[in-house]
Amino acid sequence: MLAELKGLNEECGLFAIFGHERAAELTYYGLHALQHRGQQGAGIVTSNGKQLSIHKGVGLVRSVFEQQHLSSLKGTSAIGHVRYAAEQDSGFENVQPLLFRSQISSMALAHNGEIVNAFALRSQLEAQGSILQTTSDTEIIAHLIKRGGYLPLEEAIKQALVMVKGAYAFVLLTEEQLYIALDPYGLRPLSIGKIDDAYVVASETCAFDLVGAKYVREVHPGELLIIDKHGLKSTMFASPMQRALCSMEYVYFSRPDSNLNGLNVHASRKLMGKQLAKEAGVEADIVTGVPDSSISAAIGYAEESGIPYELGLIKNRYIGRTFIEPSQSSREEGVKMKLSSVRGIVNGKRVVMIDDSIVRGTTSMRIVRLLKEAGATEVHVRIASPPIKHPCFYGVDTTVKEDLIAAQYSIDEMAKEIGADSLAFLSVEGLEKSLVHEDSNEVGICKACFTGRYPTEIYPKEIYVSEKEQEHE
Ligand code: AMP
Ligand code: SF4
Repeated sequence: MLAELKGLNEECGLFAIFGHERAAELTYYGLHALQHRGQQGAGIVTSNGKQLSIHKGVGLVRSVFEQQHLSSLKGTSAIGHVRYAAEQDSGFENVQPLLFRSQISSMALAHNGEIVNAFALRSQLEAQGSILQTTSDTEIIAHLIKRGGYLPLEEAIKQALVMVKGAYAFVLLTEEQLYIALDPYGLRPLSIGKIDDAYVVASETCAFDLVGAKYVREVHPGELLIIDKHGLKSTMFASPMQRALCSMEYVYFSRPDSNLNGLNVHASRKLMGKQLAKEAGVEADIVTGVPDSSISAAIGYAEESGIPYELGLIKNRYIGRTFIEPSQSSREEGVKMKLSSVRGIVNGKRVVMIDDSIVRGTTSMRIVRLLKEAGATEVHVRIASPPIKHPCFYGVDTTVKEDLIAAQYSIDEMAKEIGADSLAFLSVEGLEKSLVHEDSNEVGICKACFTGRYPTEIYPKEIYVSEKEQEHE
């Protein structure tokens, strides 16, 4: 769970509201609830019906916004964003929402996901004279919309979205309207709620709970919603495909108190843990989970196996992401400051250690070591998702196959690498079984990083570059 140890990319978080007196304040609270989805930057744009106001900055929501900023964000509609940035694009210019002012009408955009044909679109736009100021996909969408400026905005947005391939949930605010769209496969989560007469939209329903909004429904794949003083209008910009919601949302990203596509995240993780116990039982004295995201699965594993759940690992809540690890040699101390094993509990015990996933294997390796140093006689690692063997092209920064330990080694070899006495993963079928509605309908998930079967066409940058090179030969 210690994403901060690894510098991997996470999701971003979106929040929007239309028609509420306290739009900026509620967006601020909503972003707090979504803070786990990105800690590198936060921003809010509001509209008072005549003009848009913006405040954004690098860092956590609580450090970007002070009372005076919220007071300056006037109006009854707002969009907000929290972002996790890859190292190379962590600058202020990439913090969202992006605001484009013009004499006729301004627009602000925020998005979560990744456009798989961004490289091609960017090259195309630049060839046609657009000057792009950021490395963000959001700006590409904005330019594509602006290119259709002769059309009514709804049509210009639809025309732009048809060109964009990949995973995206996006919100766009003008002086008078709020637009919301989700990619045709619904790879990213996005829900609609209501607070009084105002509509709210959020990446996760935990944001609704915090602002006191009632959940209404999911945004449908391929849907464009337009909210204005006349109410909410739903249109489609693409034929909806079989939903392929990122399964890592259930496994790792989302908060346990959120419901995604009708399934509670904690309950889903518990089922994954139970299923894992059925598939990969082992004789042991205690089960422990890596805080926080693996706790639900560990409880499920314990319940199913009958092995007691214990608090073998504790996370220090006060170590921020900015914690300095000055040299490689002090990295181990860094891990210990973020996570401790509880000697009094694990000493002399055979431990089943549950984690939600393995990406590069560094977390598991360090935690096995911590548990053994605390006296665990055996450490059996059980992972509540299948091995990640394929890169993600949809906004999760696991794009380099060479970094994925499961793409390089067999399970036995991995167990040796991380120092575990045994290692097992949840099967793909087990994951699918854990993600079904009460009426037995599947939720429709993307499993591409486990199976290599991508729901959309993919356009790896290298392929595009080599095609271009061939064209020039
Ligand atoms: P690793 O140490 O590279 O194997 O990373 C695995 C750990 O990172 C697990 O404990 C997960 O909770 C967490 N994790 C999984 N996917 C991601 C991701 N895309 N970004 C950040 N952390 C992740
Ligand atoms: Fe999520 Fe994996 Fe699909 Fe990427 S490839 S969207 S991480 S399930």
